[in-house]
Amino acid sequence: MEDVAYGTQTIYFHLRRVERKTLAIEVHPDLSIWAIAPLKASLSDVKKRIVRRGTWINKQLNYFEQFLPRTPEREYVSGETHLYLGRRYLLRVRHGEENSVKLKGGELFVYCKTKPKQELVRRLLAEWYYNHAKKRFDKVISEQIQRYKRFDIEAPEVEIRRMKNRWGSCTPKGKIILNPELIKAPGKCIEYVLIHELCHLVHPNHGKQFYALLGELLPGWVKWKEKLEQTIF
Ligand SMILES: [Zn+2]
Repeated sequence: MEDVAYGTQTIYFHLRRVERKTLAIEVHPDLSIWAIAPLKASLSDVKKRIVRRGTWINKQLNYFEQFLPRTPEREYVSGETHLYLGRRYLLRVRHGEENSVKLKGGELFVYCKTKPKQELVRRLLAEWYYNHAKKRFDKVISEQIQRYKRFDIEAPEVEIRRMKNRWGSCTPKGKIILNPELIKAPGKCIEYVLIHELCHLVHPNHGKQFYALLGELLPGWVKWKEKLEQTIF
């Protein structure tokens, strides 16, 4: 990850070099910033461009941030606890050779190449959660979809996107949208949300048939729904 000063703020971004003529800047829903640069572009030129687009980048970040669920104020410093798969992990912020996040010995380590700043730790964690959410959701869906064979439905398109007050949704076209924050919930709660959304591929509304299918595929689902509602994220 690269960084550049922008006023009093530090903008952290990923640099990807590709064969192209112009430089593109992207802000992704996981709050990561990407500079897609021509092979020959110098890093200082890329940084200049990032600074020039600073206002736009912040606008994009604010847009995606509004979907973050309301959580207690976090400072992203050692000693805080952060949830992952229903367990609380003690956060340890350390200096490291690479910016990275690792779960070991019941603790969540965030290594920073530079002096650890709240913004960097927050960004690294958001990406880590997002990537783990994607892997987990894909795995559960590919396992669960096997159980819907008799309905002749195809594996749905899945999008991971932050949403206000929602864990998942299913569009009329059969695309499933999942909140990356769900990765903080226990595995069974994740399964419940995904099975619920998959059932919508068969029955779009919350009718009797929908609940019959949900009950068949995940007996005792109410317990996991309640557990999810009681979890403080
Ligand atoms: Zn539903």
